[in-house]
Amino acid sequence: MGKLFGLLGHPVGHSMSPTMHNDQFSFLGLDGYYHAFDVHPDELENAVKGIRALGLSGFNVTIPHKVEIMKYLDEIDEEALQIGAVNTVVNRGGKLYGYNTDGKGFAVSLQNLAGAHFLNQKMLIVGAGGAARGIFVTLARMGAKTIDIANRTVEKAEGLIAENPYPIQSSARSIKEAEENLHEYQIIINTTSVGMSPKIEELPLQLTNMKPGTILSDIIYNPLETKWLKEGKAIGALTQNGVGMFVGQGALAFEMWTKEKPDYTRMEQVVMKKLGGSK
Ligand code: NAP
Repeated sequence: MGKLFGLLGHPVGHSMSPTMHNDQFSFLGLDGYYHAFDVHPDELENAVKGIRALGLSGFNVTIPHKVEIMKYLDEIDEEALQIGAVNTVVNRGGKLYGYNTDGKGFAVSLQNLAGAHFLNQKMLIVGAGGAARGIFVTLARMGAKTIDIANRTVEKAEGLIAENPYPIQSSARSIKEAEENLHEYQIIINTTSVGMSPKIEELPLQLTNMKPGTILSDIIYNPLETKWLKEGKAIGALTQNGVGMFVGQGALAFEMWTKEKPDYTRMEQVVMKKLGGSK
């Protein structure tokens, strides 16, 4: 009998996950199917009961359920607990285990661009919301040496740093302070929603003081190239958009569910096609 997987979110109409995962099931000859379920926040508990009753083999969790879902699971992995959110659930013999693959998915895509020693580079994360949490915690656990966090609301960056139990050098900065000292960083990561469609003219941080050769990573993938990445490229940055993170988190979830390594490049091609780009 085929295995069923899913996504719980609200809304889920534009999700690229069903196309990406279903393509892998057929490409790898696996008898699996992935469906996006639009679950209203009031129905999350019932949805999880339904998943248990129907025996789904695993599922992803997206906005707005990534924190709330934790209440309804049997066990939560340490990294997901530290991040404070779950995006991937595996059903093992009727028990639901929660993980977070967002940060690791990002780390894989960053390493592809920045090289094996990227954890030794001085990094700046712009933003201190949910995505920043995942990325900061994962990179800190992996052994990153220095990551500063700049955010419009500096207290949120301070909080994220204060909660972190890992041995990492980290300072909270205002956006202005970060802009003034931008030449210090070898890797700069935008995790804010600033620049995302439809407000594509906005910049999360001015790049005037950035050194050429800096790695600029924007986790936004709509548009595929934000104004921020375009400006960075024009002053000599190496750039990447959020497709790699999206594919990375999905590839890790797929492997946890099926114990098969998915074809990462093919997943990326499927997502790029859906987003109207090419790879
Ligand atoms: P979130 O928890 O709501 O955090 C939003 C962040 O953006 C906060 O740091 C917030 O600053 C900042 N921000 C929002 N509007 C701003 C503005 N007008 N000016 C300055 N700062 C502003 O959201 P999230 O879940 O972290 O998601 C953030 C972005 O990441 C979204 O664009 C999302 O699509 C993208 N994302 C991509 C992936 C991927 O796989 N590529 C995965 C997850 C998320 P304050 O704290 O000051 O409000």
